Amino acid sequence: MAGALMTDVVMRAEDVHKRFGRLEVLKGVSLDVQQRETVCIIGPSGSGKTTFIRCINHLEKVDGGRITVNGHLIGYRQKGDRLVEDSEKSIARQRTQIGMVFQRFNLFPHKTALENVIEAPVHVLGQSREQATEEGVRLLTRVGLADKTGTYPGKLSGGQQQRVAIARSLAMKPALILFDEPTSALDPEVTGEVLSVMEELAHEGMTMIVVTHEMGFAREAADRVVMMDAGVIIEEGTPEHFFQAPEHERTKQFLSKIL
Ligand code: ADP
Ligand code: MG
Repeated sequence: MAGALMTDVVMRAEDVHKRFGRLEVLKGVSLDVQQRETVCIIGPSGSGKTTFIRCINHLEKVDGGRITVNGHLIGYRQKGDRLVEDSEKSIARQRTQIGMVFQRFNLFPHKTALENVIEAPVHVLGQSREQATEEGVRLLTRVGLADKTGTYPGKLSGGQQQRVAIARSLAMKPALILFDEPTSALDPEVTGEVLSVMEELAHEGMTMIVVTHEMGFAREAADRVVMMDAGVIIEEGTPEHFFQAPEHERTKQFLSKIL
């Protein structure tokens, strides 16, 4: 089978370097994420987690190394032995494969929950309004918002807005969803409803990379946890490894603060 030549790696980052001016923020990050895998990235503030996530969908250019999603370079084309930046159009097309849920929900305030969800399927994927609407209602139901399809973001709680953002991501049928601290801006009482939607997705086999310090979520949903510090991955393992026997002093220190 031709398809069998490809491994089940959805996202591969190889020796990714990124600097902002003289500040080297990513100092050679390599990570493979397999199909159906949920990987949590933890680490102190400023360690480069957001930058790494943003490099994966090419919201940031990389200065070295490469990132592929489903075997395709993200943001670049190979030209001889060099990488040259891709056209906007081609980058936009690649991004449709990569869902992204940010700390802030970034919903369109003047569109209802359902309109937010169907926007990209209609305008980017060219789905009919009817088909997108049917799917959108299904997805909003799946995240527990069947009764909020016609509601504007301003009338939704932070947790509800974040669930709309998740439904909006799912509507694009992405190969991979990136979450960057999706609950850190939420009131504690609605954090759980967002985490349980994410947990369900993980168990249903969505491929996910989740920057989060919610170790309860990691324990329930993560196949692997990756610890970043100062622009490198210093340790990785199962959630149990991090609970029971973290190796690095930095990891121990960090976990003692968040657990
Ligand atoms: P984390 O998400 O782990 O907290 P970030 O990736 O946001 O870390 O940031 C890593 C470092 O890069 C920090 O020192 C931050 O100040 C810096 N940084 C992030 N984005 C920019 C930017 N656009 N310009 C300059 N410095 C940046
Ligand atoms: Mg961050």
